[in-house]
Amino acid sequence: MRLKIAILAGDGIGPEVTNEAVNILKAVAELGGHDFSFVPLLLGGVAITATGSPLPTATLDACLESDAVLLGAVGDNKFNDLSPDKRPEAGLLQIRQALGGFANLRPSIAYPALAENSPLRPEVTKDANILFVRELLGGLYFGSPRGWNKEPSAPGGGEAINTMRYTRAEVVRVARVAFELAAKRRKKVTSVDKANVLEVSQLWRATVTEVAADYPEVTLEHQLVDSMAMHIMNIPRNFDVVLTENLFGDILSDEAGVITGSLGMLPSATIGGTVNLYEPVHGSAPDIAGTGKANPLGAILTAAMVLRHTANLEQDAAAIEAAVGKVLSAGHRTADIARRNAAGASNDAVQHLVSTREMGKLVHQALAESIDRRQSMHAV
Ligand code: NAD
Repeated sequence: MRLKIAILAGDGIGPEVTNEAVNILKAVAELGGHDFSFVPLLLGGVAITATGSPLPTATLDACLESDAVLLGAVGDNKFNDLSPDKRPEAGLLQIRQALGGFANLRPSIAYPALAENSPLRPEVTKDANILFVRELLGGLYFGSPRGWNKEPSAPGGGEAINTMRYTRAEVVRVARVAFELAAKRRKKVTSVDKANVLEVSQLWRATVTEVAADYPEVTLEHQLVDSMAMHIMNIPRNFDVVLTENLFGDILSDEAGVITGSLGMLPSATIGGTVNLYEPVHGSAPDIAGTGKANPLGAILTAAMVLRHTANLEQDAAAIEAAVGKVLSAGHRTADIARRNAAGASNDAVQHLVSTREMGKLVHQALAESIDRRQSMHAV
């Protein structure tokens, strides 16, 4: 398998965690005899410093020529005084738009070893493994008309409008992504809407129901967004693939992030456009950049998504995820997922505090062992 991956490490902890993710991909390539090439490119604050633009043309062109784009994080406090369209985050929004992905995938998984890290009780999060499929290019965030007619005499007053709009075609394409993914998982799609109030949701529900007919092996259920917000917290294990429009997905996928227990653990992918874009959910974390405290597991799990959704290397993707689970079960923790005792000290008896680099190496080691085992089983 040949794969050309554009690497946009970005700012703050972006390069630190991306380095570990790339090392894992290199290991998969070496162990599996694949030909992966990595093209480092500038995005965000580092790009502003070097070129004056948060998304240089050379970066965009090279991304469009790649098979996948792996992004770290952008954002640097030293650019806070620039106008929003010139700041590092503008580069992120521009690259997302240019790549054109319409389906944002966000897994929310309860790792048994991290059960105590979630604010939810372990018996609630047990066995939770949800994949959110959020429509990303339509709905309230993009619909027109939009705007704020300000009253000069009353700052903050006047009238503002946003429009929630979906076409049937937009719903069909994202629903197909959800059903295809569910067919490879636990074969259930929960479609979230507000069909008791919104016409847009009525179109959404009717269209998703229609698409479901092409996937008889997948069960479809509909949930209203308000009750879904409660169900996710009450019985998260009941859900497999959750399909939502843009705004509802933005809110629910963040809510479900608490199941995993740390922002540093969450991967994401945006697919369906010209080139798929993969990025951990967290930002550039300037408060811990350069200290070796960043958790690279979100970035490493994002690398697993590259293999699953772009390279179709499901076994290798699953092997990375299993390696992460194994390292956590062995008690290794970066600071964000280390449990503290009442005195605020980490519980060293069962946990081993490690740096970003050490965590990356541990996952590498666990992955190499599992790929070796797989290959020797194939050999007999
Ligand atoms: P953040 O995600 O960077 O950090 C929030 C908190 O979580 C911080 O305390 C941070 O130390 C911690 N954290 C985040 N990732 C971690 C990891 N991998 N390991 C351990 N701890 C981790 O969000 P923020 O502080 O609101 O924003 C910081 C900068 O990042 C801003 O410039 C913001 O605009 C940018 N940002 C970028 C993205 C992105 O690139 N996708 C997303 C969100 C925020």
